[in-house]
Amino acid sequence: MGIALAIHGGAWNVPDTELADHRDGVARALRHAWGLLHGGASAVDTVTAAVRALEDDPLFNAGTGSHLNRLGKVELDASIMSGDLLEAGAVAAVERIRNPVDLARAILEDSDHVLLVGKGARRFAREQGIQECRSRDLLVGRARETYLRIRAGETDLIATEFAPGSDPDATHGDEHMGTVGAVARDANGCIVAATSTGGTLDKYPGRVGDSPLIGSGTYADSRYGGASCTGWGEGIMRVVMAKAAIDRIAGGLTSDEAASSALGDLGRIRGHGGMIMVDKAGVPCAAFNTPRMARGLACARDGLRVGVDETMETLPPS
Ligand code: ASP
Repeated sequence: MGIALAIHGGAWNVPDTELADHRDGVARALRHAWGLLHGGASAVDTVTAAVRALEDDPLFNAGTGSHLNRLGKVELDASIMSGDLLEAGAVAAVERIRNPVDLARAILEDSDHVLLVGKGARRFAREQGIQECRSRDLLVGRARETYLRIRAGETDLIATEFAPGSDPDATHGDEHMGTVGAVARDANGCIVAATSTGGTLDKYPGRVGDSPLIGSGTYADSRYGGASCTGWGEGIMRVVMAKAAIDRIAGGLTSDEAASSALGDLGRIRGHGGMIMVDKAGVPCAAFNTPRMARGLACARDGLRVGVDETMETLPPS
């Protein structure tokens, strides 16, 4: 049973014009994090590095490049869970933090709590010496432009693909869903999962989705596997999707079967999204019922693979 890594840059209707950028973005983060894991890094260091790389890439809706809420502010959610002792840390609706995954990890390692929100989370970040930034540092052109267009009346830009009854094959213009996540199994058999997001486009201030909720957006239990989810958070929370998938591995399904079955729960309430998993045997997988999902999988047997639509492409050795 070997080391393995899975990462994602969000399940949504990635436009054709952005396919190559999304592929390259996950390929860069995958190579970087796989290099660390392969060199002996722990699963917790590996997923933190992968999520940080994706947060720092303005293409994805996490950290720099996040969606703005209805008031024009960036409120971020993130979580991380380590599957040996079921330790977890999470942060919700926090502002001015460049890498929310670092804050989630500090909560896991240095607090008595699992979830901190808003101002208290920022206070804890300051105490921990976590890098703060100006809100405007997190705003890159595209998210800000989309916000201004919505305020000017282009409400059809607001994401509808995760809403009940929406058509997953429909084209929804300029919406940008690119929550990020990573799951790794290290050489000691520890499985860690992490997720980070700016949430949904034009969300109500204070809205929190599945990403910082242990069991919904993120779950890891080294006896079975780990999962990081993306998609319509309001639905993912209601089906507790990450834990549902891990429970199905515990019940005897393969990780592929467990991921499709948990996504079936989301589909039952007409929701759309995706998830990545790594199981205790070191098998990485991804499943989604959105048109596309940027993802990368790595293990010794199959090498490094990335994909945004159905097909996966093997990366040449660097
Ligand atoms: N699940 C995230 C949320 O609802 C959004 C996403 O994955 O794109 O906040």
